Amino acid sequence: SVFAGPNHLVIFHMNDTHGHVWGTEDGGGFARAATLINQAREEVAKEGGAVLFLHAGDVNTGIPESDQLDAVPDFLALHYMGLDAMSLGNHEFDKPFEVLEKQYEVAQFPFLGANFVNEKRGGPVFEPYIIKDYGDFSVGIIGLVTEQTKVLEPIYLGENTIVDAEETLNMYLPIVQEKADVVIVLAHLGYHADGGRPNLSVEFTTSDELAENVSGVDIIIDGHSHTLLETPVVINNVIVAQAGDNAENIGRIDLWIDDGRIVDWRGEVIPLTSDIPEDPFIKMFTDAFYQLGSEALNEVVGVTKVYLDGERAHVRSDETNLSNLIADGMIWKTGADVALMNGGGIRASIEAGEITYRDILTVLPFGNTLYVLELTGKDIMDVLNYAATIPDGQGAKLHVAGLTAEIKGGKATNVKINGKPIDLNKTYKVVTNNYVAAGGDGYTMLAGKPGYDTYFRDADSLREYIAHLGTIEDYTSQERLIELDQ
Ligand code: ATP
Repeated sequence: SVFAGPNHLVIFHMNDTHGHVWGTEDGGGFARAATLINQAREEVAKEGGAVLFLHAGDVNTGIPESDQLDAVPDFLALHYMGLDAMSLGNHEFDKPFEVLEKQYEVAQFPFLGANFVNEKRGGPVFEPYIIKDYGDFSVGIIGLVTEQTKVLEPIYLGENTIVDAEETLNMYLPIVQEKADVVIVLAHLGYHADGGRPNLSVEFTTSDELAENVSGVDIIIDGHSHTLLETPVVINNVIVAQAGDNAENIGRIDLWIDDGRIVDWRGEVIPLTSDIPEDPFIKMFTDAFYQLGSEALNEVVGVTKVYLDGERAHVRSDETNLSNLIADGMIWKTGADVALMNGGGIRASIEAGEITYRDILTVLPFGNTLYVLELTGKDIMDVLNYAATIPDGQGAKLHVAGLTAEIKGGKATNVKINGKPIDLNKTYKVVTNNYVAAGGDGYTMLAGKPGYDTYFRDADSLREYIAHLGTIEDYTSQERLIELDQ
């Protein structure tokens, strides 16, 4: 190099942006991030350094304008922001695999996922790692996605699966170390060194465990737990960084590399405050996409005179008027005897007043479809007895229509379907969403049961049901699963 001294590498990182392309007056958004990245590019170019921009996964799902356009605005913006690579996040599997393939074409940057493999062919579906060669030094980046995806987003994995993150990393590390001076793991795994490790029916690796157990990694850029590490944490000599969520911040790590080794570093998370100007190009075309997304979403579908309660803590502990409405709409749409809805699938409330399609998509953002199952009375009892064990606060909390039961001591009793005692040998038509039907949220007893996917979006079913009702004068919440213990 013509420049004396160590080489300077600036790494920018984001994670869990969840459709939040667009900032507000209060800050945030991709156009502000672009400004900081471009400034750094100019600065380090003068000293012969380089900028690396990474995303640790969960670009998808969260803002209706983005969801409606299959996150094309997000991926295109990241492309023009010069993203070098992202790791796959669990929410990249919220929609059919073809959508992810389309996003890959739009993005034109690697979707790293060393442990996202095809079971039939074997081997990774996308790139496991990349090597960035900066002349004086090189950086290897290995992508990993949480094994939790197998229970959180099981539906669209198809013949693909997610294998052990740590084992996979150990398999690729020697190859990448051979080719690169600096090794980065771009991990959608989650940071739980401070606790809060989720309790799920699947073995999974967290980024802090990975740092603890693996040697040969310099940096873990993490996502998934939405953790804001204001400065990176060093675990077992590994720099672990995560930058919160929803494009409210961007992480920055400065490395000085001499003779292929990191000789100095510093790291921080920079809040994307309102005083940071928005990059005019990114803003211009993402705003155009917002218009496109908005037009479809602003359509008024119906009116409610009452607040429809989808508050996270409420729908994860009790039935609400909104959960009743959703479940009733599922029956209305499909003619099923019983509807089953997971509380965690309800993501927002609806205020009294006009209801737009946008409001509905905010409540049901996953793009799920209605799935009709043929279940015996005995099968339904298995579902209810599992539901009776779910503690308050879990996404698995069950909401129903067409059915009433009493819940006591972790068991369901006095079960009635359409007012008549359940017949254990009779076959009933049961509608749920494809997430639960595939065994999501622990409803594994449903996976493989006879039935069919209606390929009808849950949000569209609710939209039609609300349009059918016209004006919701009142929708009092009914306790259909009556908890007798409390
Ligand atoms: P993240 O991955 O961004 O950290 P998350 O959505 O996975 O967040 P939570 O907010 O705790 O984590 O929600 C998890 C719950 O969300 C699940 O238990 C389930 O009830 C619900 N959920 C997740 N994905 C889907 C889906 N595709 N369809 C319906 N419900 C879902």
